[in-house]
Amino acid sequence: MSSIFSKIIAREIPADIVYEDDDCLAFRDIAPKAPVHVLVIPKREIVSLAELQPEDEAVMGRCVIAASQIAAAEGLSGGYRLIVNCGDDGGQEVPHVHFHLLGGRKMTWPPG
Ligand code: C5P
Repeated sequence: MSSIFSKIIAREIPADIVYEDDDCLAFRDIAPKAPVHVLVIPKREIVSLAELQPEDEAVMGRCVIAASQIAAAEGLSGGYRLIVNCGDDGGQEVPHVHFHLLGGRKMTWPPG
């Protein structure tokens, strides 16, 4: 299922892109929930964590490593949070799997 993130990948709508490789794209969240809020997404259209297939292993791993590299580049030496919302109960709104990289402030636990 195509989503607004497919349009960002295709450069059909603008985004503040901070990282790109063959498998992943990262851009600043349009409504940031922390001083640093970057979304890291696979370029492959994967709806959610619940839809992952064995062949997605490498690209998902690549996204996590990219998130780690972006966190370092953003200066998040004190730590950060990397989360994925999955499905309605998980609070997922965009049906293209994405990692939220959040940092630059103290996080609380548990999330709401
Ligand atoms: O996990 P969830 O699906 O709720 O997160 C979607 C995120 O995508 C939101 O944080 C929203 O602000 C962001 N978004 C964006 N640019 C868009 C549409 C949504 O950064 N054009």
